[in-house]
Amino acid sequence: MRLAETVTFGGSGLDRAATLRGQPERMEELLREGQILALWRGQVPVDSAAETGNADGLVWVPTGSPLLDHAGPPVFLCLDDGQPRFAADISAWQPPEAPPQPAGIFSAAALPHPALPASAAFHDLRAVMASLSPREAELAATAKAIIGWHASHGFCARCGTPSAMDQAGWRRLCPACGAQHFPRTDPVVIMVIERDGRLLLGRSPGWPEGMYSLLAGFVEPGETLEAAVRREVAEETGVAVGAVRYLASQPWPFPASLMLGAHGQATSEEITLDPAELEDAQWVTKDEMVTILAGRHPRIRPGRAGAIAYFLIRHWVADRLD
Ligand SMILES: [Zn+2]
Repeated sequence: MRLAETVTFGGSGLDRAATLRGQPERMEELLREGQILALWRGQVPVDSAAETGNADGLVWVPTGSPLLDHAGPPVFLCLDDGQPRFAADISAWQPPEAPPQPAGIFSAAALPHPALPASAAFHDLRAVMASLSPREAELAATAKAIIGWHASHGFCARCGTPSAMDQAGWRRLCPACGAQHFPRTDPVVIMVIERDGRLLLGRSPGWPEGMYSLLAGFVEPGETLEAAVRREVAEETGVAVGAVRYLASQPWPFPASLMLGAHGQATSEEITLDPAELEDAQWVTKDEMVTILAGRHPRIRPGRAGAIAYFLIRHWVADRLD
């Protein structure tokens, strides 16, 4: 797919400067001139008044900022046009008042912080991803994924001893058995399933009213992308899929997925739902999809801008999946 990398969180040509990760003294120098993105329980600080064109901007702070008072060790992200950038976890900070509601996939609660400008707050990345520049979206996705990995991988998976951050945050080492642990990324297939010009949409139990999306599921060990597409569609809807081709990918750090967009040709039509996975599934024509995207469909609402499902659906409607 020619437009693949224009997806949100798509590659912006970031220089991760990975060879510097193993140079602790150089890292100390870079940190002194570096800019740091603080993440609080997976949320990112965004300033809605930032001077970044039409986009909202991430809030970056230098070492010593009071925003980093509760920060864990910094993770080196990149040299961004020569500017060293890092991420650090400040989840240990306790807000003076409980957030209005837990941040979740469909909530957009924003949390202020005394060290942030009044126009800035911590947000769920999904709530702001579509308004960030491609570079900032890539940085935020990288920071959220790697910080989240450290938060949930504090112990050696081989022997259970607490492990330690290494390689400027890109590895964990076990001091007891010497095992090395690397950040993980879990592949998920998400598919445009088509038959006679119609697209297969489904909705999971518990989704907001009217929300439908492309079918998706985790790739299992020992499985190809194509096999995962056929298995997931068959399990969830009973629809058989023949030819499958890869379209585009999207890092999806909620918490650690890589979405693999695929195009599959259905060879059967009848839908038999798996009620544990899907509440409903439907075949939708291109004309109907245009109505949905315009927000004029009586039952189905358009998906979330920035998510690869929305991206693939828009390009399917416009015949741009080639
Ligand atoms: Zn160990």
